[in-house]
Parts: sequence; C-alpha cells; structure tokens
Amino acid sequence: MFWEEKIETMQRSDLQTLQLERLKQTVVNAANAPFYKNFFAKNSFDPSTIRTLDDARRIPFTTKEDLREAWPYGLLAVPKDELVRMHSSSGTTGRSTVIFHTARDLDAWTDTLSRSMYMTGMRKADVFQNMMTYGLFTGGLGFHYGAERLGALTIPVGAGNSKRQIQLMRDFDTTVLHIIPSYALHLSGVFEELSVDPRRDTRLRIAFLGAEPHSEKTRGRIEEFYGLKAFNSYGLSEMNGPGVAFECQCQAGLHVWEDNFLMEIIDPDTLEPVADGVEGELVLTTLKREGMPVLRYRTKDLTRIIAGPCACGRTHRRIERITGRTDDMLIIKGVNIFPVQIEKKLMGISDVGNNFQIILERKGYNDHMIVRVEVTKELFSGDLKQLESLRKKITEELRSDILITPRVDLVEPNTLPKTEGKAVRVLDNRAD
Ligand code: AMP
Ligand code: ZN
Repeated sequence: MFWEEKIETMQRSDLQTLQLERLKQTVVNAANAPFYKNFFAKNSFDPSTIRTLDDARRIPFTTKEDLREAWPYGLLAVPKDELVRMHSSSGTTGRSTVIFHTARDLDAWTDTLSRSMYMTGMRKADVFQNMMTYGLFTGGLGFHYGAERLGALTIPVGAGNSKRQIQLMRDFDTTVLHIIPSYALHLSGVFEELSVDPRRDTRLRIAFLGAEPHSEKTRGRIEEFYGLKAFNSYGLSEMNGPGVAFECQCQAGLHVWEDNFLMEIIDPDTLEPVADGVEGELVLTTLKREGMPVLRYRTKDLTRIIAGPCACGRTHRRIERITGRTDDMLIIKGVNIFPVQIEKKLMGISDVGNNFQIILERKGYNDHMIVRVEVTKELFSGDLKQLESLRKKITEELRSDILITPRVDLVEPNTLPKTEGKAVRVLDNRAD
C-alpha cells in the first residue's frame, strides 16, 4: 500500500517534530545564500530564533521577483561545485526562475515522486510513458527518475507527436501515462481520427495529470475516454517541480508531502493565515533542500486545506485542486505566460498602437490564444501587404518569447475595450 509507510503514516505530532527540526536546519542553511543573508539583515530576522513551527510566520515571504533578482546564483546555500542539476520554470525566456539541486536534493525529490506514483497504485510491472517535455522543465526528468526508482519500465518519449505516442502505447503495452490534461483531451481526437479506442486497443490504466489547472469535469472526461483512473499531480519548479502534492486512490484532494514542505494558506491581501477549509494562497517552504532552500514562497496558487484524516491512512494533509491564481499568469498547453511578456514585446514594435487584448478560446479540445493588437491609423488605412508583414512579425516575436503561436489580429486604433484603472487584458473564454 505504501512506498515509505513510516513517513507516509507518521503521527501528526511526530511529523511536526520532524518539520520543526528540518525547518531550523533549513533556515540556518539559507543564511549561507547571499540573497537570504541580505534578506534576513534587511528584515531584521535572526535565523537562530526559530523555536516552534509558528515561528515560521516571522520569516519574510519570498516571491518570484526575489528569485529573478537573485539570478543567476544568488540563492545558492552551498558551493557551486556541490550542484549536479539545474531546472527552470516553464515558458518564460530570459530571466525565468532557476532552481539548483545537489545529489541529495535530487534523491529526495525522486523519492517524493516514487512515493506519489506508488500511492496511486502504479507498480514495478507497469509501463510508464512520460509525455511531458524533458529538459529544463521539471515534469520530464522529475517523473522519469521517480518511475525508474519505482522500478517501472520508463519510456522517456517527451511531449508532442501524437500519432507516435499512440503507436508507442499500443506497441509497448503502456499502462501509465504522465500527460498535460489539455493534451489528453486533444489526443482523444487523434485516437478517434485513427479509429483507435484506448479502452479496447490499449492497456492504459492510470494517468497522472499535472502542470496546469483542470476541473473535476476534465478529469471525468479523460477517465471516461481512456478507460483509466486519473490522478492530479501538483508542483512548481521553485519547490522542485512535481512531487509537492498528489492525489491518492481516494481522489479526494492532494496530499502535500509535509516531510519535504511546510505548508501555509494565507489571505493574499492581509498575508495572515486563513482557517482550515478557507480558500487562500498556498505558501511553501522547502524542508529538505540543501542546495537552494526557498522560504515561505508565495506560489500565487489558490487552494484550501481539506480538514480531517484521509481514508487511505496517510497523515500528510490534503489540499483541494488548484482553483486559480492571485496573479494574472496564464497557463496554456502547460506553458506559463504572463500578459506583461506580451505587452513588452508588442510595445517594442513600432507601428503597434497603444492597446491590445488577449483572448483565450477552446476549440474542440484545443486551447487557442488570439492576440488583438491596435495598430497606428496610418498603417491601418495604408498598404495591405505592410499590414500582413507586421502581423507576421508580431506573431513570430511572440512565438519566440512565449513558445506558443498565437493568432494575431490587427485592429484599428481605439477599437479595443478600455477600462479605467487596471487594464483587463485577458478574456478567458475557455469554459469547462
Ligand atoms: P512551473 O514552475 O513551470 O512548474 O509551473 C508551476 C505552476 O503550474 C504552479 O504554480 C501552478 O500554477 C501550475 N500547476 C502545476 N500543476 C498544477 C495542477 N495539478 N493543477 C493546477 N495548476 C498546476
Ligand atoms: Zn489519501
């Protein structure tokens, strides 16, 4: 039933003792990083004063901006030659956030994934097809090593190439998939096109769905079409990546691996903790990472704690599936995009007017991004060829930055809606 029974079913009081011990170590270790050394001094925080878990609330919050400013190596708490791997968050180019691991960090991360996969019923005899991007993105290598440690035959196919994916599933009797939920929906269309019925023609029995928000309905559709059980996998690169929280066979919330992470849920406005069961922003502290500890990281993800024990017997608390974000980050096909990236690109192109709008739509099972851009009056009433070449240029510039290809529509000045105050840049029409 359990990968590491002792840890997974630890008495809450013992788990808290372990957390406190690790928190103390982590905070003291963090002070070795130039960023935290300054941060503690600036905020008059003395790392040796952590005595209880509640004392964690005196540690200042760390944000994505802090991580970007500490680029490239400002958050290292160990000498650089101790590091063995680097990863980064998905989708952003330039100064995205980077995460470094020592060999021990990778070992602990891998354990959280083996444990998570085992929890869903995956076993050594399974054939695991990892359909996530390999490389800097954490979903590829993170799951890869977890599955190998579990002992399953692992197919590191990576993302894309739908027909080949289906072929591999059939030829090698794949039983477990790791897949982005929107891609799983898209792929069902390809199955239909090829007249392949996954229920009849494959041995699929488990899917791990992660990297982007999705609803219970989406899970239901995927389970129904593929004839398998789908489990929600949550994580973020700043906290290793996948393996932060995962659903068990009860499919009633995601267990947060509290021996690795200290969890808080705060009100994003007051920054005070909310009561169990109340929705708020998830804040996480690494408890086992030595290369690059991150303290009280504001994930910007909204969720709530599900109170009470889980029928599976694990004592690590559960959170609800992520319901949204406190910032304007969009996730399209698993790629994180901030509207400001689009704004920066557009505003750097002469002939682009002052307003733009991002529209997200779901056609069939595919997400599409449409960027409507106002152009200058002269250009709009001028040569059509010139307009088309501007459209191409904008498309290409955006594609190179956000990694997905939007449809660009050029419109006359003053035609896009204006709002007083904060601009509403994004119209998300992707209803579930
Ligand atoms: P990255 O740092 O690129 O791995 O992106 C992490 C972000 O992806 C998280 O902060 C979430 O917003 C989102 N994310 C990852 N997994 C899930 C999930 N299972 N449900 C909802 N959002 C997710
Ligand atoms: Zn459970």
